[in-house]
Amino acid sequence: MILNDISFNHQLKGIQKRLKSIILAKKIDYRVSQRALLKFVSQLHWCMGADRFKGFVSYGFYKGGFTTTKPAPFESPKDYMFGSGSMAACDNCSSLSCTKCPRCEKPHCFDCFWNKLHRC
Ligand SMILES: [Zn+2]
Ligand SMILES: [Zn+2]
Repeated sequence: MILNDISFNHQLKGIQKRLKSIILAKKIDYRVSQRALLKFVSQLHWCMGADRFKGFVSYGFYKGGFTTTKPAPFESPKDYMFGSGSMAACDNCSSLSCTKCPRCEKPHCFDCFWNKLHRC
């Protein structure tokens, strides 16, 4: 989708960077293979479909000049998913979480969220 390219790619890169630093810091055995990348993209796509990111998506249209209504302020996907409340006990396995699910709003660890593709 070209309209959202700038902001979407910006978010995607930011999230990818954040995940890489989490993997390094926690020494998670997670090689960034083609398969892992596909998983990551599919999980991220699922996240972006969350209601709370509607403002972010419509901002892309606004910025591109396709709509004139400025969307209400919103939290960027990266800030939401890795911001306050993302570091807690995983809702699934209670190990230290690193990502807050934009749909159920619960914290999840790397394995449960990104590796096992959390759905709720
Ligand atoms: Zn977990
Ligand atoms: Zn969830």
